Amino acid sequence: MQLLQDRILKDGKVIGSNILKVDSFLNHQLDIALFNEIGKEFKRLFNGCEVTKILTIEASGIAIASITAQYFNNVPVIFAKKYIGINMDNENYEAEVFSFTKNKLYKIRVSKNYINSDDKVLIIDDFLANGRAILGLANAVRQAGAEVVGAGIVIEKGFQKGRGVVEKEGIRVESLAIIEKMDNGEILFKN
Ligand code: 5GP
Repeated sequence: MQLLQDRILKDGKVIGSNILKVDSFLNHQLDIALFNEIGKEFKRLFNGCEVTKILTIEASGIAIASITAQYFNNVPVIFAKKYIGINMDNENYEAEVFSFTKNKLYKIRVSKNYINSDDKVLIIDDFLANGRAILGLANAVRQAGAEVVGAGIVIEKGFQKGRGVVEKEGIRVESLAIIEKMDNGEILFKN
């Protein structure tokens, strides 16, 4: 997606050798016009998949998934929770995820009330690095007996192993921008 690649080149900051900071349009300040284009592109890629729900993970996935849902007939958006609260349902699908950015293991929870065996679930996330977040979300979907129609990723770091790990689980991966290399602060896309 050219618009996204241009924006990454203009505003993305490479931190160390493998973290891309995109706080000015994706992870902190949100560019809604860009999010609409992202939503349209996910719709084009997953058109015909009869998506009934979109699943993401808090926090950054929520806005992307919500705007994307508007291009999928306003299907419900569910976000996996990382923190337990007293207001959470008691019956949850749970999965463990190793956080790439925080370097620690955490648990995600999705209420059993919101995914059932008839659902066709599109998983959306901001980044694909080693694939742990997507696998955790897919695990929750599969516990419900529902189908994962695919994973829609805004930015894939193609030099990490996420795509291989996720595809090995039989999950289709569609990324809107794939970074091949981020050496010395320079970003190179796979075309
Ligand atoms: P994975 O689970 O694929 O290893 O990592 C994906 C998750 O880690 C995403 O949900 C995203 O929040 C975070 N993440 C991984 N790499 C990056 C990165 O380079 N930049 C940012 N901003 N987040 C990242």
